[in-house]
Amino acid sequence: MKDKTVVLALLTTLLLAFGAAAAKTFITIGSGGYTGTYYPTAVGIAEIINSNLKDIRANAVSTGGSVFNTGAIQTGDQQMAMTQNDIAYYAFNGKVILKFLGKPAYKLRGVATIYPETVHILARKDANITSVSDFKGKKVYVGDVGSGAEQNAKQILEAYKMTFADLGQAVRGRPKTAVQLLQDGRIDALFYTLGVGSSAIVQASENADIVFVPLEAAKISFLKKRYPFYASYSIPAGSYRGQGSAVQTVAVKATLVASADLSADVVYRVANLIFGSKLAQFKSIKPVIAENFSVKSALDGMPIPLHPGAAKFFKEKGIPIPNVAKPID
Ligand code: GLU
Repeated sequence: MKDKTVVLALLTTLLLAFGAAAAKTFITIGSGGYTGTYYPTAVGIAEIINSNLKDIRANAVSTGGSVFNTGAIQTGDQQMAMTQNDIAYYAFNGKVILKFLGKPAYKLRGVATIYPETVHILARKDANITSVSDFKGKKVYVGDVGSGAEQNAKQILEAYKMTFADLGQAVRGRPKTAVQLLQDGRIDALFYTLGVGSSAIVQASENADIVFVPLEAAKISFLKKRYPFYASYSIPAGSYRGQGSAVQTVAVKATLVASADLSADVVYRVANLIFGSKLAQFKSIKPVIAENFSVKSALDGMPIPLHPGAAKFFKEKGIPIPNVAKPID
């Protein structure tokens, strides 16, 4: 009888161990529009994970952007995501963005900041726009539904004492469509917050007669004071066709986040892969990553507490862990 119990217990242990070994972790990585920077970045990360970690399956999904993604981490629809660091902060702390007021996305955890995301403001050459102050009464694309870009557009208009209601029309939707509308003369201008060199802006500059609209120094100061995640940023001359001089604007940081529900082991192994043994492959996803990402600076601008798996990785690399507010839960 005793022997039988021992055998049963052994069998159960073996079965459990086998089950655990075979179990897979599924990670949906939230990104942005197909012509932005998030989507290729998330696809690249998923590819690296899938070809190296057999027990983790990752897939990248195209979404509206940062606001949607941070919400989807909270609901459990995404396990990892790309988001702007300003939006991650507002979502985690339940501030500034209507959707998160009183409903913080407290499951958000930081993994790393990756590259500057620059607020690109473009106008059709024949729309007679040289400053955002000329946007009154114009048809302007302000971002996709659920984008971080839309929040940036709103805040920039605020710096010019305007709201979306002051525009002739605030147009929302897929960024690819917005570029088409600009090309066809059906909108006058557009806002898009994303890495320099992304295909949406390349397409706009190659297929439409456009100008880049700079932000005046006083407006940049206003934005930095009121919304401290903004940094001054100058889009170098020649980044796009016909862009003869540098364009003064602001930037936030593209940030990889994970759900607190993912285990420390999984996030550690992902971090150790993409920022460790496969770092060269990770950096080759996009020039903006190659030019800006380093393990040493990967916690600069981190607005939310680190995921324990990411904290373990950066501690091992000797990177000081930023002291950010404790999770609310
Ligand atoms: N930063 C943008 C947003 O969340 C998305 C940029 C991208 O897709 O690369 O609105």
